[in-house]
Amino acid sequence: MSKPFKTLDDIGDIHGRRVLVREDLNVPLKDGIVTDDTRFRATVETVTELADKGAIVLVLAHFGRPKGVPSAALSLSQLAAPYAAVLGRPVRYIDWEGADDAVATLQPGEVAVLENTRFFGGEEKNDPAVVARFAAFGDLYVNDAFSAAHRAHASTEGLARALPAYAGRAMEAELVALEKALGAPEHPVAAVVGGAKVSTKLDVLKHLVGKVDHLIIGGGMANTFLAARGVDVGKSLCEHDLTGTAEEILDAADAAGCTVHLPYDVVVAKEFRADPPTRTVNVHEVAADEMILDVGPAATEALGDVLKNCRTLVWNGPMGAFETSPFDAATVALAKTAAALTTDGSLVSVAGGGDTVAALNHAGVAGDFTFVSTAGGAFLEWMEGRDLPGVAALTR
Ligand code: ADP
Ligand code: MG
Repeated sequence: MSKPFKTLDDIGDIHGRRVLVREDLNVPLKDGIVTDDTRFRATVETVTELADKGAIVLVLAHFGRPKGVPSAALSLSQLAAPYAAVLGRPVRYIDWEGADDAVATLQPGEVAVLENTRFFGGEEKNDPAVVARFAAFGDLYVNDAFSAAHRAHASTEGLARALPAYAGRAMEAELVALEKALGAPEHPVAAVVGGAKVSTKLDVLKHLVGKVDHLIIGGGMANTFLAARGVDVGKSLCEHDLTGTAEEILDAADAAGCTVHLPYDVVVAKEFRADPPTRTVNVHEVAADEMILDVGPAATEALGDVLKNCRTLVWNGPMGAFETSPFDAATVALAKTAAALTTDGSLVSVAGGGDTVAALNHAGVAGDFTFVSTAGGAFLEWMEGRDLPGVAALTR
């Protein structure tokens, strides 16, 4: 299938050419130690391929939120050594001061990280002067940071217009997976939307009802939909001021031929803590002093049957308060069903969202999904059907 953007397959002979590669190196750092190197590992394929082809690889990345004010605490200098360890090759660090001279000394196949892009206040404003400053270091631009693509910054959007631009391997994998899930998916398509609140995912829900055949609503946000249908949800997390909006979404789904699945049995407790006394009840039997903390086993099994009849699944948000035992049961069970269907080859499954990734890891099935996106904000904006500026600039 031809892609609407150029990839490293189209980049040609790059021996000795300077390639600016936008990566996401925004790892958590505690007392100088990288506590989770997932983001480093996601860059390895692209950086290795470019360096092995003899390019001079100049990695561009932001770190934290310096807002144009340089500081040692947010300097990429401290990431060069741990990043080199993950890449398995030396990494030079290049400060903005004297960067032109330093870049000129680099040899084909060498990898360098330039200083924090956000030390320039104009980075986040997509300032043409900052774009020009970055562009002067490179002959070509590769964007490999999907997670930063929802921002129109100099290093994520401006550069794609200033230099010949290509998607890196991680960006390519992400875009291919997202296209399969919602762009041109095989039907029937199911979406699972869960998590705490309707208010954070209104645009996601509104977009999905026009796209998918089955909308499965779980988590705290299901309570608002149940309340809209006249169910007394007791002490549950519920945005009562949004029941009108929930009704509008249900009507829009009806009009679009999208079947909405709300839980009909639920797990409730009087206190929100690990392993409290619980009851599994029909949604109409929640007591005034109880809260809904998970989807019940009967509804979960029925939802699994919905997935069995689908070809595509996109998932954002856990079905219950999965961090607290035993309210992980529905999330784990449905995740395992989706994983098994994916392994069998009957389902394309794409999931994303910070807590969703944690939930799938907790269920032990993240590796069995077709694709799991670690991009939080960018993934949600994509689920809202928005154009991501960093992606649009590549596909122009
Ligand atoms: P993501 O980060 O994947 O987008 P969200 O941040 O929207 O997901 O939602 C995750 C949170 O929703 C979790 O902390 C989970 O405990 C909470 N949650 C899920 N179901 C319920 C519920 N029934 N009541 C309260 N909180 C819930
Ligand atoms: Mg979250």
